[in-house]
Formats: sequence, C-alpha cells, structure tokens
Amino acid sequence: MSPEEFRKHGKQVIDWIADYLASVESHPVRSPVGPGDIRRALPSHPPEHGEPFEHTLADLDRVLLPGITHWQHPRFFAYFPANASGPAILGDLLSSGLGVQGMLWATSPAATELETVVVDWLAELLDLPRRFRTDEAGGGVIQDSASSASLVALLAARQRAGAGRHTLYVSSQTHSSLERAGRIAGLGAGDVRAVEVDPDTLAMDPDRLAALLERDRADGAVPTLVCATIGTTATTAIDPVARIGEVCRQHGVWLHVDAAYAGVAAVCPELRWINDGVAAYADSYVTNPHKWLLTNFDCSVLWLADRAPLIDALSALPEYLRNPATSSGEVIDYRDWQLPLGRRFRALKLWAVLRWYGAEGLRAHIRDGIALADEFADLVAADPRFEVSDHHPFGLVCFRPRYPELSTEDANAATMALVERLNDSGELYLTHAVVGGRTVLRLAVGGPATQRRHVHQAWEAIRAAVS
Ligand SMILES: *Cc1c(COP(=O)(O)O)cnc(C)c1O
Repeated sequence: MSPEEFRKHGKQVIDWIADYLASVESHPVRSPVGPGDIRRALPSHPPEHGEPFEHTLADLDRVLLPGITHWQHPRFFAYFPANASGPAILGDLLSSGLGVQGMLWATSPAATELETVVVDWLAELLDLPRRFRTDEAGGGVIQDSASSASLVALLAARQRAGAGRHTLYVSSQTHSSLERAGRIAGLGAGDVRAVEVDPDTLAMDPDRLAALLERDRADGAVPTLVCATIGTTATTAIDPVARIGEVCRQHGVWLHVDAAYAGVAAVCPELRWINDGVAAYADSYVTNPHKWLLTNFDCSVLWLADRAPLIDALSALPEYLRNPATSSGEVIDYRDWQLPLGRRFRALKLWAVLRWYGAEGLRAHIRDGIALADEFADLVAADPRFEVSDHHPFGLVCFRPRYPELSTEDANAATMALVERLNDSGELYLTHAVVGGRTVLRLAVGGPATQRRHVHQAWEAIRAAVS
C-alpha cells in the first residue's frame, strides 16, 4: 500500500469509525450470534491474490459487525465498560503509524522518554507518593494489563525476598490474575493463601493476615507478597491498605496494591482517601487507564517504590541487544520492566488523552460516572421489589430483585435468568457477581458515551423485566 493509497483508505477508516461511534446506539449491545457463526461466514482459506481494501471494510460490516459486542454502546454496563476515546484512538493510530518497537531506549529514545514523562504525570495527577517517580528510587511503566503488572510485581517481590518457599497472600475477593501470577511464577498451589474478609465490607481482615504470616514464617515459608485491592472487581470493596501495610512492614513482606479499576478515581481530590496507606506502605501499585480513564485497551500503569529488584529479576542482556546507551547506565530500558522483550508505543495514546482532556476533563469524567451510579442506586432503592448495596463509591452498583417466596438457590437462578433475559434483549448489557452466596446484578457506569437518559432507560428495562 503506497502512502497515497494509505491516505485514501485511511480516510475511509476514520470515517467508518466516526460513523460507528455516532450510530453505536442502534446496535444490540451484546452480540446475538452463536458459537461458530462468524467462523462459518469467513472463507476457510487465505486469499492467494491481494484484494482491494474496500472488500475488507465491506466484510467488517457484513460479517463481523453482527459478532461484535458493542463495548462503546452507552448502555454497556457489564464488567467495567471500555474507555476508548477519540484522542486515545488517534494516539494509538499514530503509534501504529510510527511502527516503533520500543524495547530499548536506543530503539526509539522518544518512546521511552515520553513514557517516563506520562507515568510521572499520571502519578502526580493521582497524588501518588514521590518515591514512585522516576527521579526517585521508583518509577512507573506501562503494561498491557493489570494481570501482567501484578505478575511482574510478584517477580520483583520474590527477587527481594531471596530464596525459599514463597507464599502469596490474597483474599477471596482478589482478582483471579493474582492466583494465576502465583501459578505462573511457580508457587505451589498451597502457597497462595486466601485471607478471610469481613463478611459485610468484603475487605481483607488484617488480623487474619498477620496470623497467617506468623504461622507461615514459623513453618519455614518466605512470605513474599500481599495483594491489597482498592476497588475489587465483583463489588468495588476496598481493603484497609494502611492496616495491611503495617502488618506487611512488621513482617518484611512486599505490599502490592491492585487498583486496576478504581485507582484512576484519585484524579479527583475528594476521592484521594481511597489511597490511604499507599504513600506509607505500598511497594507497588497498579491502575488501568483503560478501565476508567478514557484510554482504549491496552494501557495499565504499574509503579514501584524501588525499581531495583524488578530490574534485577527481569534483566538479561544478550549480545545482540548491547548498545552504548544501555552500557552507559544513563537510560531506562523498559524491556527490563515487563515480561516480553518487545513493546508498543502506548505512551502516545495516554499522552494524547492527558493533553486533550486535561486534569479537569478527567475529573469530570470520573465525577459523571459516580453521579450516574448514585442516581441509579437511588432509583433501585426506591423500588421495594429490589435491594441495593449501599457501597457504591465508584461507578459500580450491585443490586438484586427480592424474591421473598424463593429459596436462596431459586432466587439466584431467577436472578441469572433475569440477567440473560435483559442481555438477550440487546437493550443493555449487565453482568453478575456472587456475594455471600447470593447472586447480584452489577451495573457499571463509566463508558464515555453513557448519559443520564441511558441509565434511566436501563432502569426502565430492568423494572419491566421483573414485573
Ligand atoms: C479488571 C481487573 C484486573 C485485571 O485487569 P486486566 O488489565 O484485564 O488484566 C485486576 N484487578 C482488578 C481489581 C480488576 O478489576
């Protein structure tokens, strides 16, 4: 494709995306196709001869679009909604256009140095501790996902802990990526410990953590990492980071804070309380701009209070990567801060987002999401046929229909049937969680296109579906 051909098709693609975003509401939110439908509609063999680009665009409309779940639909309330935005999409496109592979400083100095600047900017916007900044002992790095970030944190923690039987501490509410990180890192299945939670708040119990750490030490284990979560995936529960951090300090254990979804809310000064304890105790902290900060997947930022154990754990310098800049020790090579060697120029989209919205615009986005979630919770609370959790500090509201005449098991089945009915309607998309043995609906507000009317439409659909 020549630059002139690229210009022509590139304009078609931008128009396609703009038309899509303008009309996304006309699609059913969740794709209605069944397993294998899309695959059957595609040719079994690759083309022998090149085709005009228009054919690809036409098949995108004809074949693929029916199999797309519209994450940018304003009534997408499942999981945590996507946070794609114009500047992020354009920043990603520029990154593709440059085609840079930023594994080393030397393979594109601007890719590394812009990343250092934007992660330091974001640390400042979230009021994270100074020691997380690159000009101190720590530093931040953009990863593909919080899963990778937490695995990398575990590897750094293990490096710092030294040899032995390593143990990892989570709660029943911790994201499954931590258990997977333990498995990938080769910890024994019994060495991933689930600390009990408070049954009401679902927050990790620091006293139980302390008891487990003592017992494990006495048994000869090397307690390696404790993961505290700010905003759990199921219900946005918040672990008591300061008290957990105190316990970690007493036991010399690495404290990793997983704030994948909720951490970015700290752009708002009135929400900085969520990070209580982080400045004093956290060894590492992850939050995902791709979850709630107007940045399309993938963009997860991991900060460390001390980058040395991470680099010691992951650095390897084969001859073919040797270069004067690396040898000088004056530059950052982010390949030492992540699992793969190669890396995309993700800083470009985060830079585009931070510049387009400014701190003001980012705060407005978070505040809008929270206000809509509050409003939705009020609507649910006013209907006696439902009960709603009063814990909704962010964009997520958990609620369920009351089925006074049904057993818990039957009520759970009825709630699941309700979710499927709603999602099949294409009017909205919700997911569920199980809290204390009860199935609840999760309505997560936060997509950039979601407005007040969409939340009200969702509530009308839900009400109509239970009556
Ligand atoms: C979504 C989520 C993750 C996983 O995020 P990925 O970036 O998809 O790996 C981890 N922890 C929490 C608390 C989450 O909500």
